[in-house]
Amino acid sequence: VYTPLFKEHTATVAAKLVAKLNANENPYGPSPKSIKALKDAADAGNRYGWGHLSQLVDMIAEKEGVSKEHIMMGPGSSDLLEKFALVYFMNGGTVLSADPSYMSLMNVAKSVGAEWKGVTLNKDWSHDLDAMEKAITPDTKMVYICNPNNPTGTITSYEKLKDFCSRVSEKVPVFVDEAYLEFVEGEDGKSMVSLLNEGKNVIVARTFSKIHGMAGLRVGYVAALPETLEAVQKITRGGMGISNTSIYAAIASMKDTGFQDASRLKNKEARDYTFGRLKEMGFDPVPSHTSFMIFPQTEYEGREFLNKMMAHGIGVRSFEIYDKTWCRVSMGTMKEMQLFTDALGKVIG
Ligand code: PLP
Repeated sequence: VYTPLFKEHTATVAAKLVAKLNANENPYGPSPKSIKALKDAADAGNRYGWGHLSQLVDMIAEKEGVSKEHIMMGPGSSDLLEKFALVYFMNGGTVLSADPSYMSLMNVAKSVGAEWKGVTLNKDWSHDLDAMEKAITPDTKMVYICNPNNPTGTITSYEKLKDFCSRVSEKVPVFVDEAYLEFVEGEDGKSMVSLLNEGKNVIVARTFSKIHGMAGLRVGYVAALPETLEAVQKITRGGMGISNTSIYAAIASMKDTGFQDASRLKNKEARDYTFGRLKEMGFDPVPSHTSFMIFPQTEYEGREFLNKMMAHGIGVRSFEIYDKTWCRVSMGTMKEMQLFTDALGKVIG
């Protein structure tokens, strides 16, 4: 049964952290314009949010270059990952993804009886798309791709992934989780959403939790074929879980592209600094295209390492990947990254 991280998050909050770098949150958000919209909208708390939700969906559809029938909203993308897992796997089947990857959808699928098949990443940490395609069987009901991938922070090339999605989605739906795509520079930062206009059966998840800095306000969406969304929404309604105030905040945040650009820039500065410092300290971090980074630490078992970091007021995560213990650190402010590297130096001196 899927155990959410709630307990761990509660523990880290209770520990009064000086740098909370364990949940890939944006340290700069929400945008001041978004906060103002949220406060101004408090009076509308007695109303359901459908009217403004429709306005938000129009804005998202325009940005993505699809119709509003291609969009399903949710209180964060987790809600949509879980809903799709329930609807697609309530009668069993196999879900295919990279291993390691972001396990939310697979964990719920497994809980309702699905089988998970994980495919090892390539040496350069990109998805092994050839192996994934070969692993598809008649029992495969969905392929899940997280790009850039969590927990590794690495990307799969736009062209290769587009080619894969285009071909594979003829056989089985491809769910592409693009939670961190806004942090990727250049061609590889392009979304798979354009495939919807070619009628391809891709399901693209996006979130306001990362670049918009709205993790606690809970807004996300999926772009998919209208018939896909109709089938899902026959069973479970989209948008019902988002509070009216968060809808207003999301509308304001979408308009505030300056805030998004500043987040991207400051995230990159923190990432470059952290990467450089880790290298100087003798660690071997994996180049990241996201708002977090992993590196192996072989000194301690995972829980012991987390406790030692927490004793210095630093919250990070630990993962077991390919027989090694890795630290995943989210990008905070520059000050927080200094505190993190200083504490790390004391823990592993
Ligand atoms: N997808 C990925 C890859 C994530 O890392 C996260 C959160 O960390 C989510 C989805 C869920 O985000 P939210 O539910 O806040 O939209």
